[in-house]
Amino acid sequence: MYVHMLPSEVIEKISAGEVIESPADCVKELLENSLDAGSSRVEVEVLHGGKKYICVKDNGTGIHREDMEKVILRWATSKIRSMSDLMNIQSFGFRGEALHAISNVSRMVIRSRFFQDELGVEMGLEGGKVAWKRDAGMQVGTCVEVYSLFYNLPVRLKFLKKEDTERNKISRLIKEYALSQPKVHFILVSNGRKLLDLPPFEERKDRVETTFGMKFDRMDLSVDNINIEVYTSVENVRGEVHVFVNSRCVQNRSLVEYVRRAVGYKKVCVLFLDIPPYMVDANVHPKKREVKIYKESKIKELIGRMFKKRESYPFFLSQNTPPYTVHFELLGILDNTLILAKIGEYLYFFDQHLLSERLSFERTHNAESSCRSSIKAGKEISEYEAQELIRAWMNFENREVCPHGRPIYYRLYIGDVYRSLGRR
Ligand code: ADP
Ligand code: MG
Repeated sequence: MYVHMLPSEVIEKISAGEVIESPADCVKELLENSLDAGSSRVEVEVLHGGKKYICVKDNGTGIHREDMEKVILRWATSKIRSMSDLMNIQSFGFRGEALHAISNVSRMVIRSRFFQDELGVEMGLEGGKVAWKRDAGMQVGTCVEVYSLFYNLPVRLKFLKKEDTERNKISRLIKEYALSQPKVHFILVSNGRKLLDLPPFEERKDRVETTFGMKFDRMDLSVDNINIEVYTSVENVRGEVHVFVNSRCVQNRSLVEYVRRAVGYKKVCVLFLDIPPYMVDANVHPKKREVKIYKESKIKELIGRMFKKRESYPFFLSQNTPPYTVHFELLGILDNTLILAKIGEYLYFFDQHLLSERLSFERTHNAESSCRSSIKAGKEISEYEAQELIRAWMNFENREVCPHGRPIYYRLYIGDVYRSLGRR
């Protein structure tokens, strides 16, 4: 006989390790619980990147004293009751796994005062078992302390990252939640130093701007029950894209990539998508980082439309406005004559000669000299030169025709190409 059932103690540790892999995972779960409890202020404190100590303190509803011992049981939750609730999740948590998992792989103290009570309760846990419990004088809210995470799970302990790495992960995480929850005050203290202090704001825009320390443009669109809000940095910087679906920061790769293409690689872009809960399945991943979105293509189309509208601006910009760049993809140069590029939803064929002619015209405003000084068709140009030409073209006053009135480009709507091939 070689096969036997694993002891429950081993099973517990394995599954706890699935939910919580690092101090940042721990902070994430505790933070989400604080937000679910309707807190307006959440303070996170860590020592040694959270490896030694994590404390998340909030001013939410608190835990009912009779629930104190229940919250650390596996699959114990106050957030859903039935299968049908799964279709309509409005909270971050609902699986009832986090406190159970964390308490199993650490020494933990939970302190909480329910909003209708005069007194709080304090409970100490060791590897998931209640070690002590007593009344505690405290403000309404909850404070969870986690000491020596993974002290009893050496495999996980061994693979923890360096203190700096863990601390940065935690800081990034808090900023993420701060972006989607402008009205909540977030604080991060690390080794006694205040690293983040993000005061509450009424408007998302203020929160986005203070979090990144830059100015942002805002666009929004509402169709049916779908609301999209996009913030794009005014400045060009190293681009990053953050996507929130119903306030949950998600790693939906295809959506992020779609936004990145639409906005270009030099912008910080924060996109908030608010859709009815039944259109999202957050239950595909234990950590809920990935979500499934129904009708994703429709949503992409709406986002695409927003950016396209924005792209049409530069056509009417006056000359003294700073240059405007729209993201494009250079696909190649054909016969040393045609420059191929994808811009928005179109495939563009530029005539290299006419394009460069238009460019010199914009510079000199003289049709005769521009024709002579420009790049002739048939002359080999580098990809870089081709990109420069397109970039310059985007800021032309007249993007349609060359100084002699010949069209500069021919374009195809990519959707039409797909349609003729029988797709979509
Ligand atoms: P879930 O969040 O999926 O319900 P958790 O294990 O994270 O599962 O938490 C279990 C329960 O403990 C929650 O459903 C909630 O009722 C309670 N709880 C946990 N943290 C807090 C908090 N900070 N404030 C109020 N209640 C909390
Ligand atoms: Mg939770």
